[in-house]
Amino acid sequence: MPLPPAPLESMSPLTSWYRSTARDLPWRRPEFHDEYGAWGVLVSEFMLQQTPVTRVIPRLEAWLDRWPTPAAMATASTADVVQQWANLGYPRRALWLHRAAVEITDRHGGIVPREVDQLLALSGIGDYTARAVAVFAYGDRHPVVDTNTRRVLARAVEGRAQPGTPSRRDLELMASLLPEDVTAAAVFNAAAMELGATVCTARAPRCELCPLADSCAWLAAGRPDTGDERRRQAAYEGSDRQARGAVLRLLRAMDPEAVPLEAVLPEWPDTGQRDRAIDSLIADGLAEADGSALFLPR
Ligand code: SF4
Repeated sequence: MPLPPAPLESMSPLTSWYRSTARDLPWRRPEFHDEYGAWGVLVSEFMLQQTPVTRVIPRLEAWLDRWPTPAAMATASTADVVQQWANLGYPRRALWLHRAAVEITDRHGGIVPREVDQLLALSGIGDYTARAVAVFAYGDRHPVVDTNTRRVLARAVEGRAQPGTPSRRDLELMASLLPEDVTAAAVFNAAAMELGATVCTARAPRCELCPLADSCAWLAAGRPDTGDERRRQAAYEGSDRQARGAVLRLLRAMDPEAVPLEAVLPEWPDTGQRDRAIDSLIADGLAEADGSALFLPR
């Protein structure tokens, strides 16, 4: 049975902790916003969805150097976009980002929209990214809830070891905790994410360093094992994802040349898995075939 929400005051140390300890990340610097505006925030959020910060930083800079605006990216070819995405993983995000750039250019005159509903209507943008752009690019007041925030809320407020299945309730709970002031609300959103990323981590929360230790419901209860409903991610080694990654790496290395089908991973230990990988890349629009060869989309 979840515990009742903690009173807002008990969360207030979070903001001052964030102001004194937040990591210096490119998308938090004023000059980043001056140079790339909401487009820079949008691209960074796409990349950060499933990739660690340290891998995102160099790719983000390269991406924005090449395509500093949605209109610039809208003219890129799919092959260029897949190439530039490089090793960030989950490459369908590159296609969605490309589509979103085209949509922003066509529907919004090249300006990333500010309204959550308009952001949600763009390709590849869900609840988290839409609100993150509205808050961190435009300074509006919305609850922004990512995996890290969900874990902090589950522990500090609800007394559970791990968050449950994502639901609208996460947004409602975060909304109930947000300070009224617009700027303070934006900082609070960022602070909750930062705490989950650096202190209240999934496997080894460092409660001795936590600004919420005095009020955390889970810590007060003795950090009980309350179960874990999260879906386990399958191991990468030996997975279809690994096969897809290997095929795509080959196509990127050979581009603009096409790769004869018989030369696509002939040594792969599971040929059925390799063929599934090829078929799924074609189905996702990440590769094309002409019957005898495979290549990046033109
Ligand atoms: S006290 Fe521990 S469990 Fe509670 S929010 Fe802080 S780090 Fe997480």
